[in-house]
Amino acid sequence: MLFGMIQLKNVLPHHLFLRCRCNHSRMVAVIELVETYGENITLDQVRKNARCTACKRKGGIEIRLVYVGGSEFAMRGSNTKEKE
Ligand SMILES: [Zn+2]
Repeated sequence: MLFGMIQLKNVLPHHLFLRCRCNHSRMVAVIELVETYGENITLDQVRKNARCTACKRKGGIEIRLVYVGGSEFAMRGSNTKEKE
């Protein structure tokens, strides 16, 4: 699967690392993006729609998928592994 075609619902336990051309970067939880854009949006669409909070420019943003884990997602996921 192409990276840009990945839908948010497939990567819910992840964060996205976004970096603008102005070199401003931030981490956003995928869950937060789902609340804004819906779970069916692809990473390509996020890249086109995301607006830099520093320079207010839209699009042209570099996206990286980051897995941070954390228990706050355990309750949301339907297919998370159970720990003993
Ligand atoms: Zn920027």
